[in-house]
Amino acid sequence: MKILVIGSGGREHALVWKIAQSPRVEKIYCAPGNGGIGEISECIDIKADDVDGLLRFALSHDIDLTVVGPEVALSLGIVDVFMENNLRIFGPNQKAAMLEGSKAFSKDFMQKYQIPTAKYKNYDEASEALRDIDDFGYPLVIKADGLAAGKGVIIAKDRAEAEDAIKDIMGDKKFGIAGNIIVVEEFLQGEEASILAFVDGNVAIPMVSAQDYKRALDDDKGLNTGGMGAVSPAFYYNDEIAEIVKKDIIDKTMEAFKAEAIEYKGVLYFGLMLTKDGPKLLEYNARFGDPETEVVLMRLETDLIDIMDAVIDGALEDTSIKWSDDSAVCVVMASGGYPESYNNGFEIKGLTLNSSNGVVFHAGTAIKNGKIITTGGRVLVVSALGETTKQARERVYEMASKIDFEKAFYRKDIGMKKGL
Ligand code: AMP
Repeated sequence: MKILVIGSGGREHALVWKIAQSPRVEKIYCAPGNGGIGEISECIDIKADDVDGLLRFALSHDIDLTVVGPEVALSLGIVDVFMENNLRIFGPNQKAAMLEGSKAFSKDFMQKYQIPTAKYKNYDEASEALRDIDDFGYPLVIKADGLAAGKGVIIAKDRAEAEDAIKDIMGDKKFGIAGNIIVVEEFLQGEEASILAFVDGNVAIPMVSAQDYKRALDDDKGLNTGGMGAVSPAFYYNDEIAEIVKKDIIDKTMEAFKAEAIEYKGVLYFGLMLTKDGPKLLEYNARFGDPETEVVLMRLETDLIDIMDAVIDGALEDTSIKWSDDSAVCVVMASGGYPESYNNGFEIKGLTLNSSNGVVFHAGTAIKNGKIITTGGRVLVVSALGETTKQARERVYEMASKIDFEKAFYRKDIGMKKGL
């Protein structure tokens, strides 16, 4: 088979790495890819949001299956366009991707189908939001409705911070049109967990659990980022919680899809808060999470192409999916200054290491004059398996300690249990 993977981050490197293990695959292209992805597939210079360019490429290169990494291509309707052209593609269509593309839509969806979530209200007028905010109590959470690259969520500890957030998002349009509408919601206390599920239009099969570390610095200090590391399984996600999540959140979501005539195929990501009143759904994502994918796929034993075929064909029920009992930990090596401003173009040294239990996924790298250089805020995602989380963590940090680039930094507490 010939496969096209769309995207350029650590998630896409993990997807290409896993897909390359399938005996059914003879060639993998990645658009646009990065320095590490180029070592195991052919990178092509087409951006992830260039739907027409990607379509032309897939048609002219007889691509058998396209796998979409980032949300932006899904929101642009790439799945609908490929299907109209009789191309097989893994991901939800534009209507289904709205669950991630609009937070106001997804909150209304959760409320309509009684899926447990934080109390909220949507606003398209700043003055009305300002009038109501005190009713939510502080801290409260303010979210830009549209896609904001993981940065559109602000936790305001008092009225002054909430007013600033509303002004930034709705007045100054800090996130562009993504901020035409905001969601204001109750702050939930608890431990987070990420559950990704394969969904084939009929059934949802959850993958092993994961938990990501969003803050830039140790002890969950510093700014929110796209993710500084992850662990699988999630510390607090036991069988009892999994059963409640299945019944109250995943199954209800599937029933809601039927009622709304939404045909969801692909990966659906449930961002959960495990509160003392039970698990609540913070958000849906319409794709593999990053960096959760870099730990979850380490544990997948089944051929990912077989699973993707079953998703597209609506045959998941007959597919057995096997996971390793090992734990996985990944640590993101970032550019000094991230998630604010940082410099690029530094040579990465020490990357030659080869560990039987670990993989270094590239997130923001390119090859220049034969050298691998940094090109992004999140540069590398170092991942490893271990019989225990502790062992996986030790292996990851051992690998990371051998890699260096100017101003590199990473959290030292990934994979350590956090208090509830
Ligand atoms: P979201 O994009 O909606 O998942 O929000 C990003 C992050 O903001 C989440 O992973 C949480 O850490 C935090 N967050 C979002 N909503 C809430 C909430 N209602 N209460 C507490 N934290 C939240």
